Amino acid sequence: MRIALDLDGVLANTMSMWVRLWRERTGREIRLEDFDEWSSWKYLGITEREFMEIMNEAWRRWRYLPPTEENISEKVSKLRTLGRVDIVTARPRETEEYAIRWLEHQGIEYDEYVWIRDGRSKLSLDYHVFIDDSPLMAEDAAHARKLVLLYDQPWNRSFRENYYVRRVRGLEEAYTILRRLREA
Ligand SMILES: [Mg+2]
Repeated sequence: MRIALDLDGVLANTMSMWVRLWRERTGREIRLEDFDEWSSWKYLGITEREFMEIMNEAWRRWRYLPPTEENISEKVSKLRTLGRVDIVTARPRETEEYAIRWLEHQGIEYDEYVWIRDGRSKLSLDYHVFIDDSPLMAEDAAHARKLVLLYDQPWNRSFRENYYVRRVRGLEEAYTILRRLREA
């Protein structure tokens, strides 16, 4: 089984750092739950570019970037018992070295780090399953006939599951689903 594992929002809790940086810069408080849409930056009165710039700054502080879950390295290792696990991300290349250092720092083992220019075209890559938090990918899953395990986050919560998209509340649940699939 070939598994594509996303980085931001699935392994790295980048948005918790984003919120911190936003507070530092503007003095304004925002909660993670307020990001209830993929394009939530619109409501902050900033552009996508400004939003991404703060994301990149969050990665420059990779040492302080928390994982999304406890024991993340063990959970990824467990997924690897099912097949090949690549980290597949559209994260800007300028932050790639921080991302790779972070993965190492967290003790996360994977097969390959795969960069793709446009996150939305991930589904065209040769994987059986994508573990991702992007509701845009979830929208495209049926058309691409690819399985997406949608990693539960405030910004994808309004997406309704379907034949191709299953919501998971953690990597453990992703493992359980995939193990069953493999046995079926
Ligand atoms: Mg993501």
